[in-house]
Amino acid sequence: MVVIDKHAAHERILFEDMKKRMRDEGDTAAQLLFIPIELQLSPEERGAVADFASEFDKLGYGCSELDSGKTGLFQIPANLSPDAAAELFKTLAASLAEGSGTPRSERDALYERALYTASCKAAMKAGREDGGSASLEWLCSRALTDPAIRVCPHGRPVAVEIGKSGLEKLFNRT
Ligand SMILES: [Zn+2]
Repeated sequence: MVVIDKHAAHERILFEDMKKRMRDEGDTAAQLLFIPIELQLSPEERGAVADFASEFDKLGYGCSELDSGKTGLFQIPANLSPDAAAELFKTLAASLAEGSGTPRSERDALYERALYTASCKAAMKAGREDGGSASLEWLCSRALTDPAIRVCPHGRPVAVEIGKSGLEKLFNRT
């Protein structure tokens, strides 16, 4: 029997997929939104988005400043729901803004840490029914087949396996 922590698994999948997008220049699978998502970003967060424009672009994001002063997301990564994509975008901008003033040499490390935080924010939450059975099936098959999905970005295991003897022990059968 394998028990999967869906938050940890989803967090790791999001993180791996984003890192993969950063590596594979060609893969920019994205969805255009008919109605842009409006986000209220602080001046620092807007600065971070401009500073990391090519990274956001590679992830599949497209945004522009609206007349209202808000930021409009008109394109999001193909593998995310609009809610999760907006959450991820905002968290990424906030963590990058917090690290402003980081020397150029540490830019990649700062970006990777921001990706961790953003994956955590956008991942399914434990104890909540999100996405229904189809997305749970997708999550399980990915967690069981992809060797990269073993531990979450914080290092916690994504799944634990309980064998026959382990189960018997739980029922005091040994
Ligand atoms: Zn998390």
